[in-house]
Amino acid sequence: MLPKSFSHSSLGTYRNCPRQFKFQYIEKPVVRRKVSPQAFLGTAVHKALRHLYKMGADGVVWPENDVVEFYQKEWDKVDPESLVLPSEHYTVDDFIRIGREVLVRHYHKYKPFKHGVILGSELSLKFTLPETPFVISAKIDRLSKKDDGSLEICDYKTGQHMLQTHDLDFRFQMGLYQLAVQDAYPQFHDIDLVQIYLRQDEEVACRMSPDELDELTEQVRLTLAAIVAAERNDNFPPTESALCAYCNYEELCPARRHRFAMEVLEKEDSDGSTPEERAAEKAEAMIGVHLKIKEFEAEKRSLKEDLVELARELNMSKFFAKSGRVDVRISREEKLVTRTADQKAHADLNALVNGWEGMDLFFELNGNEFMKKVYLTGRLTDEQRDQLEEYIKRGERVVVIPRPSRKRFDNE
Ligand code: SF4
Repeated sequence: MLPKSFSHSSLGTYRNCPRQFKFQYIEKPVVRRKVSPQAFLGTAVHKALRHLYKMGADGVVWPENDVVEFYQKEWDKVDPESLVLPSEHYTVDDFIRIGREVLVRHYHKYKPFKHGVILGSELSLKFTLPETPFVISAKIDRLSKKDDGSLEICDYKTGQHMLQTHDLDFRFQMGLYQLAVQDAYPQFHDIDLVQIYLRQDEEVACRMSPDELDELTEQVRLTLAAIVAAERNDNFPPTESALCAYCNYEELCPARRHRFAMEVLEKEDSDGSTPEERAAEKAEAMIGVHLKIKEFEAEKRSLKEDLVELARELNMSKFFAKSGRVDVRISREEKLVTRTADQKAHADLNALVNGWEGMDLFFELNGNEFMKKVYLTGRLTDEQRDQLEEYIKRGERVVVIPRPSRKRFDNE
């Protein structure tokens, strides 16, 4: 069954990989969660900032050492062995240090953290998307009322990838947050959307106009309609990407599961009779056939070139072998420019021919028909032929056709 409410994160999961969406929000199998140190860094920093700004709103500055100590204690809650490092070059300590550094830098830049009146920190809001039965939930890192009376929706980012305001992910997340805030606080009209990138020490900010919000609402409606259709047809295809490395369902995924099964079977020294092993065998055979076909195709191209060369040298058009013959046809050809080859020239040609009385019907049929039925049959005046000249491409047409005998000579 589909979830009762959606968030920018669940909609993003569907957009990135429908199969992951089905695992995460519909099937919900019990799996061993992959804990990425990047995600844990984000959680620990977010928690520290939440306390910092809550106290700052009351005019209390949380001492820097206490903030760092709080952050450090968060890391004590996770077993370092359970963390999946993104590369052999990074250690868990590197992530702890990165989080501490961004937190300290943010602390010095934004002290005393009195960013207007805090209306909510890690604020959970829900609203019904207009003209749909769907509820959208939003969890906002910080919502504050600034001194000029406007609102600011702030989201902290601790990742390495920085979005821009025109990016779909930015608009989906921050636009949905704005719709949630407008629903909860209809008295406010001026709303700033800010993402603070802690690692880059950058802010990405914008305001979304009512038209832009309408457009976003329509995009969300379309995504929701696609999810409903996917559920009705049980059509949630896996979409592999670099994100698979962080997916909790990799070992269950139809696109990735076989590899894991084979690794296990190899370790178990299996006798090769399981369906997974038979599938691996067939896949191996299929790859072998595919490669052979490629080789044959290359060989066929090379033989064709040799036969065309010999046909020119010997001035012959048929070569006989024990098992049949090969026809080699080399002819001159005249073709009208095509739309694919030159769009503008093709449009000009259209205009020219359509201006000739009685010709348009032939031309609309297609360029080849026009050449066959009009140009080559001499139905054009000399002036028309001259006008057509610049649209005619002349070249050589080479056709090589193998004709195996029904009854091979060597079998007779
Ligand atoms: S492993 Fe990749 S393809 Fe499979 S469900 Fe997860 S994200 Fe999708």
